[in-house]
Amino acid sequence: MIVVMKKGASREEIQHIIERVEALGLKAHPIFGTERTVIAAIGEKRDEHRQSLESGPGVAEVVPILAPYKVASREVKAESTVIRVGSLTVGDAHVGMIAGPCSVENEEQTLSTARAVKAAGATALRGGAFKPRTSPYSFQGLKEDGLKILATARAETGLAVVTEVMSENDVKLVARYADVLQIGARNMQNYRLLEAVGGEGKPVLLKRGPSASLDELLLAAEYVLNAGNPNVMLCERGIRTFESHTRFSLALASVPYLHDRTHLPVVVDPSHGTGHTALVARMAAASIAAGADGLIIEVHPDPETALSDGYQSLTFKQFVDLMILCRKVAAAMDRLI
Ligand code: PEP
Ligand code: MN
Repeated sequence: MIVVMKKGASREEIQHIIERVEALGLKAHPIFGTERTVIAAIGEKRDEHRQSLESGPGVAEVVPILAPYKVASREVKAESTVIRVGSLTVGDAHVGMIAGPCSVENEEQTLSTARAVKAAGATALRGGAFKPRTSPYSFQGLKEDGLKILATARAETGLAVVTEVMSENDVKLVARYADVLQIGARNMQNYRLLEAVGGEGKPVLLKRGPSASLDELLLAAEYVLNAGNPNVMLCERGIRTFESHTRFSLALASVPYLHDRTHLPVVVDPSHGTGHTALVARMAAASIAAGADGLIIEVHPDPETALSDGYQSLTFKQFVDLMILCRKVAAAMDRLI
């Protein structure tokens, strides 16, 4: 349930209600809005305590949260969450542009890509150092050496670094180098990993599992939020359907659907969502038209020789063209990129 404080409720009154909620064995999540403060009370049997909280000082009303996810819900926080980390802003008027190779392969490949995407207007660098590969015989990533290359690229270009963490054992290591921790589609329901990144404090890019419903995605986000990390961006990256012409089916209706139900920003990945270089720019533009708060795009100096996902990676020139197209759509949508 949500305890909605009166406009102008004092800090003492808010603190008192937080303590009351905790004394009832519930978790208190205060959300300080510009208009008023609300306190989400999370836990089992929460509705039993509704009346006793309603009579508290400074309380306007206590209302049940209808959605299965609680802290992620717009019922709890009406204002959209904006994530700012270094050069990257996701949400508000800004469409965050995260671009870079699927995998960090070597310093020259990553640095040249970082320079090119920065020059074209990207605001963050992506690149996998730990790669979740379908086959154990495929390139698995450079691991810590890859993280060091990403840090070098950040030092040179100023771009925030977005990179995947695959295991809870690696969270501390990846967080030492990354600005945003990416949870890959295959790990969306790895709950211990979600809790571990929730405890880390760095913003999280949470990818939708290829067979996950949007409620499941939001409940996965809830694990991160509940662990105390409010900076979660959801990522639509396509789902598995009967359609075989594209690698996945990019479900763009999820962008406005999620915006109606959650305050968390929504990023779209048209690279994995289509699996075809030729389709990426147009679906990137469509994502912005649907209201996306950010895009994550695979770019490689020579896609033909890429160690992973070359068939969906853009050349530098193709990324420049994508930016030109996306800027036109962003302008029509009153967004900045
Ligand atoms: C990636 O971003 O390179 C990746 C592996 O994505 P996903 O987890 O969406 O498959
Ligand atoms: Mn990839």
